[in-house]
Amino acid sequence: MSKQIQAIRGMNDCLPTDTPAWQHVEQILRQTAASYGYSEIRFPIVEMTELFKRSIGEVTDIVEKEMYTFTDRNGDSLTLRPEGTACCVRAGNEHGLLYNQEQRLWYTGPMFRHERPQKGRYRQFHQFGLEAFGIGTPDIDAEVIMLTARLWQQLGLTPYVKLELNSLGSTEARAAYRDALVSYLEQHKGMLDEDSLRRMHSNPLRVLDSKNPALTEILANAPKLADYLDEDSATHFARLQQLLTLAGIEFSVNPRLVRGLDYYNKTVFEWVTTELGSQGTVCAGGRYDGLVEQLGGKATPAVGFALGLERLVLLLQSLQLLPELPAIADIYLMALGEQAELAALSVAERLRADLPSARIMVHCGGGNLKKQIKRADKSGAAIGLIVGEDELARGEITVKWLREDKPQQTILLTELAKTLAFTA
Ligand code: ATP
Ligand code: MG
Repeated sequence: MSKQIQAIRGMNDCLPTDTPAWQHVEQILRQTAASYGYSEIRFPIVEMTELFKRSIGEVTDIVEKEMYTFTDRNGDSLTLRPEGTACCVRAGNEHGLLYNQEQRLWYTGPMFRHERPQKGRYRQFHQFGLEAFGIGTPDIDAEVIMLTARLWQQLGLTPYVKLELNSLGSTEARAAYRDALVSYLEQHKGMLDEDSLRRMHSNPLRVLDSKNPALTEILANAPKLADYLDEDSATHFARLQQLLTLAGIEFSVNPRLVRGLDYYNKTVFEWVTTELGSQGTVCAGGRYDGLVEQLGGKATPAVGFALGLERLVLLLQSLQLLPELPAIADIYLMALGEQAELAALSVAERLRADLPSARIMVHCGGGNLKKQIKRADKSGAAIGLIVGEDELARGEITVKWLREDKPQQTILLTELAKTLAFTA
């Protein structure tokens, strides 16, 4: 026997027993996005490497060590997308969707990051993302967050997720804060870990995001970004909090929330859960007013978020909030004898034409009635149809109720669709 080829580490198959859960989540996401007037946008999985370097930032975990980058046959450096916002902005600029316009868009699909695989963290994972372009006022930040709150409500997750908010202020405010933070960190250099020492000068705000418990106290006493906010950002942030309070959405302000991507300004937020261990962020986003211009477009304010579908599905599974596995079929067709087998396929085709929403499975591969009924039962179908040679000669078919205690019936084939229309 030849050696089996395995999937790539950190990249998962989604088996038929899992797809109903994914479809359940995807359907709620699509429906909710549509209910706020957002339209779907699709873009390629591969982009020029430069796109992510320029948007996410050179000194970020993603660009420094997580990207799947390769040189294609033309010698171009390409990257499997690690996130969707940069792609969305690239596509928006390229097709003139953003300048002087408002756009409410969503996307979903696989993303790629070379991280250490563990529960809730994979190398190919899936995000649903949503972006609103062209509106700089905090009402749209509030709407985006309210939309996420509605998602949790639809999924039954409201009691298990908490909203954390922060404001990163303007570029200038962040620069002033950055200086204060660096000098504070310099004073406590001896107590920092290797990662933080490296980040201290290249990307000091990221030090705040450190998950190392040894740094908790130092970071808790670090200068606060809130004390450096510019007036515009402070007003924007206050207004957002007011709007969320009015909407009845609970939140806490986390002054250390900075996010791992460089393009954010003003609002940042995360929805976190304690039910998934250390991979607790299910949804994260914020405002990125500078990104469109940074990627070559005309200055356009923007706000959005991305959520991880794997973490969402894991959360729903662990809380047992997923609907039961649905049946595969409504009607299962069986046949006894060679003529009957031939007829079964065409009976099913006619039935599919007459009852387009019914799921009809035909038993293939022969076998006795007992075996066929076993398969019919496994399919979850409520109705079994048996084509027998004698009945067929008389233009009849037998209907067997698989989930009800009702005697089987033999009816005319010409009456079949009408009879089943009331049940299927
Ligand atoms: P984390 O802090 O968990 O690494 P992040 O800040 O890198 O997350 P984002 O880039 O903001 O995450 O992506 C948004 C969401 O996508 C995350 O909140 C998470 O739900 C999901 N996500 C990110 N990376 C992964 C991954 N490697 N595997 C599975 N889901 C992920
Ligand atoms: Mg990450």
